[in-house]
Amino acid sequence: MDSVQQWFQQQAEGIGIALSERQLDQFETYYKLLVEWNEKMNLTGITEREAVYEKHFYDSLTVSLAVDMKGADSLADIGSGAGFPGLPLKIAFPHLRLTIVDSLAKRIRFLEEVAGQLQLNDVVNIHGRAEDIARLPAHRDRYAIVTARAVARLAGLNELCLPFARPDGCFIAMKGSGVTEEVEESRFSLQKLNAQLEEVKRLELPLEHSERHLVILRKNGPTPKAYPRKAGLPLKTPLL
Ligand code: SAM
Repeated sequence: MDSVQQWFQQQAEGIGIALSERQLDQFETYYKLLVEWNEKMNLTGITEREAVYEKHFYDSLTVSLAVDMKGADSLADIGSGAGFPGLPLKIAFPHLRLTIVDSLAKRIRFLEEVAGQLQLNDVVNIHGRAEDIARLPAHRDRYAIVTARAVARLAGLNELCLPFARPDGCFIAMKGSGVTEEVEESRFSLQKLNAQLEEVKRLELPLEHSERHLVILRKNGPTPKAYPRKAGLPLKTPLL
């Protein structure tokens, strides 16, 4: 184990996650694949090793501060891109059934490769728009936890993500700074989508000290039939 892995293991421990050597190896393989595939396709602007461990891997794991991961059985990550936060969470909490939805086919191909090389079970990577996939009975109102990072402003994002959460399940939106206005702006969408704001947790990245927020939204009951609207509409004309 080198110093970056040691640092990462300590940081994970600091938020209550004990990572084994095997899990640390999985993170390292993930890092290598990310950098390798990033030369052929646009996966991330962050490639420096320490930065990937901090801003992608560690940042993804902070979701566990918002919800009891051990008590949850399933997680859907919407607009996962190169796999964040879904894949790091799956590595750290292997019991989770993970579904990833992304509208870009080449990113889904990358995620298939990572899941295969890391020998992760119970990972389903779906190429499609969240609006369409959330209409399928196998995914609608089904997941204990839904996550999204850097996909859209909350008012529109709620309509893409909340339909995946089961009644009493939660959607955790990972946000940077300046979240207050976005949360206020999203109140109407919560009402329409049968959900409520539970808490906004403020965090800081350990090295860079930049601000992060976890917006925790709780589903009150099933998704009303009208939602999500036709693909494209939630982000083009958010529920405001
Ligand atoms: N969550 C990742 C992260 O934080 O690094 C990726 C963020 S990337 C900026 C946004 C991703 O959302 C892209 O991969 C894009 O293809 C996907 N996306 C955007 N709209 C979507 C939709 N309606 N349904 C599914 N995926 C969507």
